[in-house]
Amino acid sequence: MGTDRKIQIRGIKIRTLNVVMISISCILYVLLLWATVHALQKYDIMVSATEHANACQKNAALVSEGSDYLTEQVRLFTVTMDKQYLMNYFKEIYSTKRRDTVLDQLGDYDISSKTSDYLRTALNESNELMQTEMYSMKLIAAANHYSMTNYSDVEQIDLTTEDAALSPKQMIEKAQDLVFGSDYQNAKKSISRNITNFLDAILIDSRQKQQASTLNLKRTMRNQQILISILFIENILIFILIIRLIIKPLQIYINNIKHEKRLEITGSYEFKYLALTYNNIFELNAANELILRHQAEHDPLTGIMNRGAFEQLKTAFKTYTDPFAFLIIDVDKFKLVNDGYGHETGDDVLKKVAKLLEKSFRSTDYPARIGGDEFAVIVTNITPDMKTVILNKINAINETLMNPDDDLPQVSLSVGAALSECGFTDDLYKKADTALYEVKEHGRCGCRFFES
Ligand code: GH3
Ligand code: MG
Repeated sequence: MGTDRKIQIRGIKIRTLNVVMISISCILYVLLLWATVHALQKYDIMVSATEHANACQKNAALVSEGSDYLTEQVRLFTVTMDKQYLMNYFKEIYSTKRRDTVLDQLGDYDISSKTSDYLRTALNESNELMQTEMYSMKLIAAANHYSMTNYSDVEQIDLTTEDAALSPKQMIEKAQDLVFGSDYQNAKKSISRNITNFLDAILIDSRQKQQASTLNLKRTMRNQQILISILFIENILIFILIIRLIIKPLQIYINNIKHEKRLEITGSYEFKYLALTYNNIFELNAANELILRHQAEHDPLTGIMNRGAFEQLKTAFKTYTDPFAFLIIDVDKFKLVNDGYGHETGDDVLKKVAKLLEKSFRSTDYPARIGGDEFAVIVTNITPDMKTVILNKINAINETLMNPDDDLPQVSLSVGAALSECGFTDDLYKKADTALYEVKEHGRCGCRFFES
């Protein structure tokens, strides 16, 4: 039997299953990786939105602080007329520059032009206010005859002819009025309002960004959850399939092989294929075994039990407790058949004798060919009239053999029989043989029971 013949088997192939499962796993893992990277990106955006809002708040505070510092210094200068405050003022403008760095940094952040305009306006207003402040400084300098060569910005300012004509006291009053008066206060309020507007806009903007990225992050994490759940289900599915398609069939097969049984057609395509092939080999083996056993136990010419099997039967009957009869049967003058009609005809006669023996005795009796033209029968379940029954059977067989209705020559059988009450003893054969000898001596063609 060729194993590459086409067998119609339905079943899942482990190889296909493997490829499918590995592909699904790879896709799921790539998606999971992508979702994780995406979540990280969203998290970074959320963090940077917060940092961004903080930085903007700091910038707005710098503008506010810078502007207030200038106001403070100019006011102190107009009140105390101490040049130290003048120095502080210009140090802030040219060296500390709290406000100037703000506009540069604003470009780093992704904010709308409307939002940044608030801060820009506040800065412009603060710069415009500086003109008033420097004019008030010029008035103080003029009133006190301070040299402004170190402060070119102030020095360059020309007082109006009206102001230049004022007395020093009036100049001081005017200077103080310029930086403490309502116009100045209103300008300061406008700066502060713009900064507040800027901060509010930044707060709204960053809140919107945070909300958007939080929503995105939530969605991505939900996707991650779904992917992990699918992966989990896939893993469980793989376990179930491995158990159903591989482990269980293996257990069943090992069990069947141990008990020398055919294999169940179960599991994956590959296992079903193996089981079918195994079963075919199993059946061939069983058939071969039957043939071999039959050959070992049966005579090839007549088909009835051979000498070897009969010897085993004798051994088995040694412990048999019921009474039984043992018959030795020999064909009379068989040599003459061979010599007169040929060996083949002799064989046919032997076959005919075997058939008649099989037909005449019951299925509970055991006919065997134990030599060339020698047969034996063990007759079981004997009754008191068994002797007569056996004699009648032999007579009937001889009757048939002596009056052949085929082309075979006339032959007859001589039969020696012995009864046993206690198993197949060593002398039982001798007894039957003695009886046979007596039949041969007394003219053959007949049956005698051994009498002690
Ligand atoms: P007797 O009546 O005294 O038994 O005379 P017989 O000629 O039958 O003598 P014996 O039983 O000793 O001879 C048996 C013969 O059977 C001898 C042998 O050539 C022949 N024989 C043995 N086996 C076979 C066989 O398988 N086929 C054939 N055709 N002949 C066989
Ligand atoms: Mg003979």
